Amino acid sequence: MENALIETEWLVVGGGPAGATAAKYLAKSGKNVLLLQRDMQFKKPCGGGLRKDAFATFGIEKRLIEFEVESIDLHYKNRHVSVSLGDNRLAIVDRIRFDRTLRQYAADAGARLEEGRFLFFKRLENGFEVTAEIGGRRNIIHTRGLIAADGVNSQLRKQLTGSTPPAYLTHYADIEDRGDRQVHFHFGHDIAGSLYAWDFLESGGRNIGTLTDAKSFERFYKRLKCKVPTKVKGYKIPKYESPLFEHSGVYFVGDAAGLVLPFTYEGIYYAMASGEILSRSIITSEKSESDTYETLWEKAYGEKFDTLKRLERFALASDWRIALMMTLFKRDSVRRRMIALWLEDTKVPKGLRLWKSVIRHLLNGT
Ligand SMILES: Cc1cc2nc3c(=O)[nH]c(=O)nc-3n(C[C@H](O)[C@H](O)[C@H](O)COP(=O)(O)OP(=O)(O)OC[C@H]3O[C@@H](n4cnc5c(N)ncnc54)[C@H](O)[C@@H]3O)c2cc1C
Repeated sequence: MENALIETEWLVVGGGPAGATAAKYLAKSGKNVLLLQRDMQFKKPCGGGLRKDAFATFGIEKRLIEFEVESIDLHYKNRHVSVSLGDNRLAIVDRIRFDRTLRQYAADAGARLEEGRFLFFKRLENGFEVTAEIGGRRNIIHTRGLIAADGVNSQLRKQLTGSTPPAYLTHYADIEDRGDRQVHFHFGHDIAGSLYAWDFLESGGRNIGTLTDAKSFERFYKRLKCKVPTKVKGYKIPKYESPLFEHSGVYFVGDAAGLVLPFTYEGIYYAMASGEILSRSIITSEKSESDTYETLWEKAYGEKFDTLKRLERFALASDWRIALMMTLFKRDSVRRRMIALWLEDTKVPKGLRLWKSVIRHLLNGT
C-alpha cells in the first residue's frame, strides 16, 4: 500500500503528560501541531502522585484528582515519622484518565491527534521526515519541528544518540486494599538500596514497589506482610543525569529528556513543566531574542533538581545517614523546608542553601 503523506509544522511524538502539554501550548499559540500517541488506552506504570498546584499551573480540571494526600509516613526499620503536608497536598490521579484528558486539551486547543507509532526519521533541509505507523499503514510525516516526548524508552533518543535515557529499573505490584488510606515511603539498603520503596494508595487498591532490584522488592513485600503479589512488574524510571534538551534540532521533554525529580522520583509535574517551557521558548524565540529552552528550564528548576540530587546522595547513601535523616525529620523546621522544596515553589528555601553547602562540603570537600 502506498505511503500517505502528512504535513505539519510541529510533530510531537508521545502523548503522555510531556507531549500532550507541549502540544496544547503550541496549538494554543496558533501552531499547526500533530500529536502522535502509540496507544490511546495506554496506562503508564506510575503511582500517579503529583503536586496539587499542578492543576492550577497547567489549567487541569480538579475532577481528575482521585485522592488528596494530607500526610505521608516515612519508615526506616522500626522508626517512623508522619509528615503533614499542610496546604501542599499531593494529588493522586488515574493515569489512563489523566493522560487521555491532557491529550483532549491539546486537541481542544487545535492539535491534530493521531493514534500511531513513531518508527524512524531522517533530516530534511528544512525539517524532518518521520515514518510512523498509523491505522496499520506506514505514513510519511513532513514536519519543521520535532519533539521527542516518547518516555523513558524513547526510540527517538535511541536513534539520535544510540541509547535511551539513563534509568533505574523499578519493581512493583498491585496488592489488595488493606483499608490503609496513607502513603508510605520506606528507606533502608536491604529493601531500597540508596533510594526508596513505596506503599501507595491508588484507585482500586494499593501499589507497592521499590526503585531498585527484584530481590529487594521480595524483602520489601515480606516486611509488609502482604499477600505475595501474583504479578511483579518492572519498568524504568529516568535518573536525573545530564538531561538532554536538544540534539540535532530535535527537542526532548519529560522522561525522554531525563527530567524526573531526584529523591522523590516524581516525573508527571516536570514532564508537563518541560512541555510548557519548551513551547514557551519556541513561541517567544520567534518574536524576539529570548532564552533557550535549556536556559529557561535551568532558571526554573536547575537549583531545585541539583539540591534534591545532592540531598538524595547525602541522606540515602548509607543506613546511618538514613537514620540521621529520620532524626532530622522529627524537627518541624526541617520537615517544613523539605516539604516546601518538594511540593512548592521552585526556589530553594534559605535554610536549604545552608544544607546544600554543608552537603557539598561533605561530598566534595569543597
Ligand atoms: C513504577 C513507577 C511509578 C511512578 N510513580 C510516579 C508518581 O507517583 N508520581 C510521578 O510524578 N511520577 C511517577 N513516575 C514517573 C512518571 O510516570 C513519569 O515521569 C511520567 O509519566 C513522564 O511523562 P512523559 O510524558 O515524559 O512520559 P510517558 O508518561 O511515558 O509518556 C510517553 C508516551 O509516549 C508514547 N510512546 C512511546 N513510544 C512511542 C512511539 N514510538 N510512538 C508514539 N508514541 C509513543 C507512550 O505510549 C506514552 O503514552 C513513576 C514511574 C514508574 C516507573
